[in-house]
Amino acid sequence: MPELFPSPASTPRVRFAPSPTGYLHVGSARTFILNWLFARHNHGTMVLRLDDTDLERNTDTSVQSIFEGLRWLGLNWDEEYKQSERLALHRQAAEAIFARGLAYRDFTPAHAGDDNQSGPQGAWLFNSGMRDLSREESDRRAAAGEAFALRFRVPRGTDRALRFIDGVYGEQSKLADEVEDFALLRSDGMPTYHLASCIDDADLHISHIIRGQDHLTNTFKHLLIFEALEAKAPQFAHLPLLVAPDGAKLSKRKHGPVVSVTTYRDAGFLPQAFINFLCLLGWSPKNDRDFLTLDEIRDLFTLDGVNRANAVVNFTEADPFDPKAVWLNAEHLRALPVEELSEKLMPFFEQAGFHPSPKMVAAVTPLIRERIKLLRDAAPAADFFFLSELPPYDPAELIPQKGDAALAARVLQHAEQVLATTTFDHASLESALREAAAALNLKAGSMFQPIRVAICGRKNAPPLFETMAVLGRDVCLPRIRQAIAKLDALA
Ligand code: GLU
Repeated sequence: MPELFPSPASTPRVRFAPSPTGYLHVGSARTFILNWLFARHNHGTMVLRLDDTDLERNTDTSVQSIFEGLRWLGLNWDEEYKQSERLALHRQAAEAIFARGLAYRDFTPAHAGDDNQSGPQGAWLFNSGMRDLSREESDRRAAAGEAFALRFRVPRGTDRALRFIDGVYGEQSKLADEVEDFALLRSDGMPTYHLASCIDDADLHISHIIRGQDHLTNTFKHLLIFEALEAKAPQFAHLPLLVAPDGAKLSKRKHGPVVSVTTYRDAGFLPQAFINFLCLLGWSPKNDRDFLTLDEIRDLFTLDGVNRANAVVNFTEADPFDPKAVWLNAEHLRALPVEELSEKLMPFFEQAGFHPSPKMVAAVTPLIRERIKLLRDAAPAADFFFLSELPPYDPAELIPQKGDAALAARVLQHAEQVLATTTFDHASLESALREAAAALNLKAGSMFQPIRVAICGRKNAPPLFETMAVLGRDVCLPRIRQAIAKLDALA
């Protein structure tokens, strides 16, 4: 018999194999990222394979949303396949397994479509009725058009243990007798996940399968399939699960949008920060830093740094994002060149209803970047740069500590005079206003607070002189006059 799957490639080949039955889950994104890191660290090949043979559950929207999520992450892959385009190979291999006597037809109607992913464990352990059908009887019923599923004939009564060394969980072993006769083909002729996945892994010469720990028990079945295909089994590494603070596996049904990659994108995470965060869930680099660039992560990444314990994603109803993710994002925002950050901020300003020029955004970006953690924080932090009218604020904010409305009014009137003639650049504004404070015999803080609130509408705002320089005299002076009017109204 010719070899179905000739010798594997010499450099590592890994695959990410999402099933398009929902959006890109953060757990899947982490699997993708760790596969990518393994491939790139080892100068190997990254394969993207869409596991789309479950026609009832696949949707185009899900395919789109997975690609959208992956594109946002910005990590490239080298080869791309769809299982639905490889059905002929799956069937051919199923037939080869059947021809070797390693599978049997199961005509049981109630279970003919069961792919054994959801069925009760052990239901098919000793499926003697169908397993022991004679070949003649089986052929006769198949020829008569009776529907059947094809099941793997797991060795029975042999004491044989199925073993593999997991790259994360170490030595694994299970008695073949404890593995049920799982389905390879469903009664509609479609391959099950087990069959399609192993055939494609063999055909695409996947050398390392890196996937979620929830697939670890499937691996025993997969070893049997690789053996039946006379293909060398890849190496396996299973990744610890991502869990919620209460220990429950992260799921859309239970936890809602916090498990979707697009939620992070839309809130204004940078992909590099999100990648940094996800990598640290279950992987510890051999250094003592958490903030890592993609290049650093790639250089440091090895599977033996992956931990076995489930990784907790911290979030609450009120705060959907893990504080560590937010902190990392703030760090990555600050590490970005201003032009790049400006470009990333623009859509968030637009979304908030502001339409500043790129020049304006480039000027504002350095002033707010220390003050934002997510890109979406930028619009509320910078609104006063873009609005022609300041939103209403409490005039009491204008009054400096240990001062009163009269003092605030005096400060602003003096500022108005000074600003009428001062050049609007950082240095000139600073020296003019410091001199003004001295002339009024005030501390700088008492001088600057009323001006800051008059210009920005709040006390907590970016550096004053830079802000005024960006806004210019034509915006600042009227705002100062308005503030004086507000104080007058208080009196
Ligand atoms: N399509 C499977 C999933 O999304 C792939 C599992 C695997 O990597 O073998 O869970």
